[in-house]
Formats: sequence, C-alpha cells, structure tokens
Amino acid sequence: MSNSGSLIQDYINMPLNELMERADTACRKVYGSAVFIRGLLEVTNYCTMNCAYCGIRRDNAKLLRYRMSNEEILQTIKQGLHRGIKSFVLQGGVDPEFQGSKLIALADDIRNSFGSDFALTFSFGVLSYDTYRALFAAGVNRYLLRFETADATLHEALKGTELSERIRAFMHLKEIGYEAGTGFMTGLPGDSLSSNLELLASLEPDMIGIGPFIPHPETPLKHASCQGLEPTLRAVAISRLLFPYANIPATTAAGTIEQNGRELALSAGANVVMPNIGTKAYKQLYELYPGKICVSEDGFSCINCLSVRIRSVNKNLDYRRGNSRGRV
Ligand code: SF4
Repeated sequence: MSNSGSLIQDYINMPLNELMERADTACRKVYGSAVFIRGLLEVTNYCTMNCAYCGIRRDNAKLLRYRMSNEEILQTIKQGLHRGIKSFVLQGGVDPEFQGSKLIALADDIRNSFGSDFALTFSFGVLSYDTYRALFAAGVNRYLLRFETADATLHEALKGTELSERIRAFMHLKEIGYEAGTGFMTGLPGDSLSSNLELLASLEPDMIGIGPFIPHPETPLKHASCQGLEPTLRAVAISRLLFPYANIPATTAAGTIEQNGRELALSAGANVVMPNIGTKAYKQLYELYPGKICVSEDGFSCINCLSVRIRSVNKNLDYRRGNSRGRV
C-alpha cells in the first residue's frame, strides 16, 4: 500500500468526530472562518449521456427539458455581480448547445460584458484539449470534472464511458493552467471509499466536490439503498486533511440527505457554498437526484438562509473570489 493509501486507511478507521475536528482545524488554519460563495447557474438539463444514477439522464422521458439563453445567463451573472458575488459556476448536462464554439462564444460574451474581476468556473464534462485551451484563453479560470467512481469497471457500467478518458481530460485541465476540480459520489452500490480517495489523492485537485448518492426513481438505480451522509462527511474531512488548500463545497446534496447536512460538511472541513442563483422554474427541473432542497425559492433569496446556517457553525459567508490558496 502506498504512503497516501495507508494514511487514507488510518483516516477511514478513525472515529468520525475526531476526524471532523482535525479537518475543521486544518481548514480554519488556511481559510479562517471564511466560507466562499459561488453563484451556481445550471444552464441546461439536456444531456446526451445516460448515467445510471442521474435524474437528468437522456432516457428520463418524464423530465421537462430547458436551456438558458445566453441573455438569461448574462442577466443572472449581472444580478450576482450586483450583489457582490465574485465567483460563478456554470454547469450543465452534456448538451451539444453547450460545447465547442458555442461554449467558447459564451465565455467570450461573459468576459466582454463584465470584465475579469471575478472567477469563472465551467463544468460541462469531457471536452477536447483544444476546447479546454480556448475556454481558458477566453477567461474561464476553473473547471470541474468529477470522476464519480475510481472503479474503472463500475465507471463504465454506470456512465458508459471510460474512466481513463476522464482522468486524461482532468490532466489536460491541469496542464493548461486551470484551477481544476474533481471528486466523487459516496455510497454508489459496489463502490469503495478508499479507492475513490486514493485516486483523488493522486490527482492533486484544487477543488474537491463530494456528495452522497441519492437514488432517483427514474433511473436504473432507483431500488439501490442510500448510505446516508456519514461517508460524505468522512470523505470531505479526509480530503481536507490530504489537501489543506483545496476549495471544498458543502454540497446541496449533503443538505438534501440531512436537514443540517451542509452545516455538518462545513464542520468537516468544507469551505465553499454554491447556491443556485437561477430561477425557481429552472432549479426544479435540474433534478439530478430527488428531494433537492432550495428549489421553491428564486436563487438569490437562498443567500440569507445560507448565511444564517454558516454562522451557526462559527463561520462567515465570504464574497471574495476565493482562489485555492495552493495557487496564489
Ligand atoms: S451525470 Fe452528468 S453526464 Fe451523466 S447523465 Fe447526469 S448530467 Fe448527464
């Protein structure tokens, strides 16, 4: 077993409370009480992929599909900037309308309209090296590409694509100079937490996204059991201890599976929140998993509630762009 492998195993065997305390201390040492806010825009729920765990998979015919227009996206970012947000994340399914030249034109539009005084993160899956490079040149600073599971066989069975292709794409992002984010789902049937953490450790990401698997009724995994929040808390805490400088969100999925899930993740070393700042109508349709919270209010109204939740764990909402400290 490698050094990081045996360290990970030690952390996996540690009582959760102790692990969370250590991770919280490590997080506060780097970021103090700051919890960075990212304005999230879920710009399309069309997807050509058919991932077995995902509610917006291609074969879910019951889902009403939407795409935000470039004007709607620009308008939402403008409102976010007006409220002081300095970091935006645009994500969507694998949608031909958000790939290649169209995606590059969108990045150009955003930077030409609003300048460069804020961080811009894209998450649109595996794209060509040239597209990643052009997006970076157009002003996209960060890119999120979760691998979801480190088990190559399970990965192919669930996603229909090769894990190696995703890892290669992630390495391209790093080589080009992005703040590169990856991560995984905890509790997928047949998956291994230690393997996921070992792959994560080998990738040395700047941002780490980890959330629980929540079975969706319109997917092949609808009858799989949900393992609750604990594996996610453990994975978040271990990620913080492995990478003290990484930006790690307390995900909406954590808040969905347990009412105070985001607060617990923030107490386990997470330092980012990503409220969806889109409209209620779109939020409800971006249903990766069932029961998603915060979909009955328009985006910006979630921020007050979030800031109260953050204060309850002795942290504070922070509007700065929040680069990964390992990069500055
Ligand atoms: S996980 Fe991503 S790529 Fe897979 S079906 Fe869902 S949105 Fe599409």
